[in-house]
Amino acid sequence: MLTLHIGIDDTDSKKAMCTTYVAAVIFDDLVRKGLSPVRRPQLIRLNPNCPYKTRGNAAVALRFRVDPRGLDEVKEKVLERVSELAELECEGTEPGVAFYTGEDIPPELRSFSISVVRRMVSVEEALAVATAVGAELHALRGRRGVVGALAAVGMDRIPGKTYELLAYRVRHNWGTFRRVDEGSVVRMDMLTRPWTFDNFDYETNESRITPHTPCPVLLGIRSLDPEMAFYAFSALRILEPTERILLFETNQATDLHIQEVKVAEIEENTSVSVEGFVADLPRVMPGGHVFFTLMDETGTVQCAAFEPTKSFRNVVRSLRPGDRVRVYGGVKSKPGMPLTINLEKIKVISLARFVRTSPPRCNVCGKKTESLGKGKGYRCPRCGNKLPEGSKLLVEEQRTLRPGVYEVPSSARRHISKPLLLEGLKPIEEISKA
Ligand SMILES: [Zn+2]
Repeated sequence: MLTLHIGIDDTDSKKAMCTTYVAAVIFDDLVRKGLSPVRRPQLIRLNPNCPYKTRGNAAVALRFRVDPRGLDEVKEKVLERVSELAELECEGTEPGVAFYTGEDIPPELRSFSISVVRRMVSVEEALAVATAVGAELHALRGRRGVVGALAAVGMDRIPGKTYELLAYRVRHNWGTFRRVDEGSVVRMDMLTRPWTFDNFDYETNESRITPHTPCPVLLGIRSLDPEMAFYAFSALRILEPTERILLFETNQATDLHIQEVKVAEIEENTSVSVEGFVADLPRVMPGGHVFFTLMDETGTVQCAAFEPTKSFRNVVRSLRPGDRVRVYGGVKSKPGMPLTINLEKIKVISLARFVRTSPPRCNVCGKKTESLGKGKGYRCPRCGNKLPEGSKLLVEEQRTLRPGVYEVPSSARRHISKPLLLEGLKPIEEISKA
């Protein structure tokens, strides 16, 4: 018997389908044919900064024991299903399938997979790796999907893996309102967290387990532990039929995308962690976005907390020049803007003293004076008395921010980012083994 590794990517469009559903159908097809999986199906989140990703930029891997005589038939079945279910008529959907036959994944394929999570990888790079290790690539329309498909195959071992139980809807309900009782989502969250996570966003008061797209997914429960995922599912009140459910191993909530770098090494469309000093006062821009400049010994970079990061912006707004911080986030460039780190997390390491200047009181009538402009001194609005620049008051600000790690709310978090709640937690199965 051989082990056949199957990778699938980019079968969905912005409007419909979901690569995990295509994989779930194929998984059931193969099990029904009598094949045994060698491990759980895997849901692999790729580079979250990829500019042409559909939604969550996910690829899927399936791994089965296959009789060598039936190998070609199995591959054909997989390709048939992908063509049948993929959104082929949709512009921009470029489904890819990768096959690799062999017990162990070659090290160069493993490191290729990590690259695809961390940076932009070209189709040519994927073709070169596939040729080198003897993997088979199929592009069903366009070639882009083969990159993610091959990356999924290569990620057989996921450091710090988590799980997601996905439940799918029957076809005639696709595109309609999802009927999952919200109260039961809150109860389930209370019962199972932190072993399950991102179930409910208490800041925006909405369920996080149900997507808002017309895709076949009814709900997804993210979990540190397989049994806890099923228990959480059983605690939900679901008011519509489910077509199938499948538990995936995932690299979600692992921070696998983040690379520790210096400012000078920052590249567009990667995710980074950088330590440095706050170089200026945070600026609140129209739309409520907050920006500041981070500096280390190699240069400066702009950091941003955008409006959807909600209360996280209060943390960023309370930074002051000289604060020592470590920032985490995806690097983007937009026309007319410098390279910007879109903050996902920030660690406030130490706080600087911050002294504000304010206009003095008039020494004639006691009224608060007004500035005549930077360095030009002050004038009393009541009696016209003028005071020199040197008479300004210096007031040390009482810092309310505390050292610690702060993150964006779950509604703004990337699938692959590790929530703070999970820091230091281990899956229950590892605890019981210890
Ligand atoms: Zn006065």
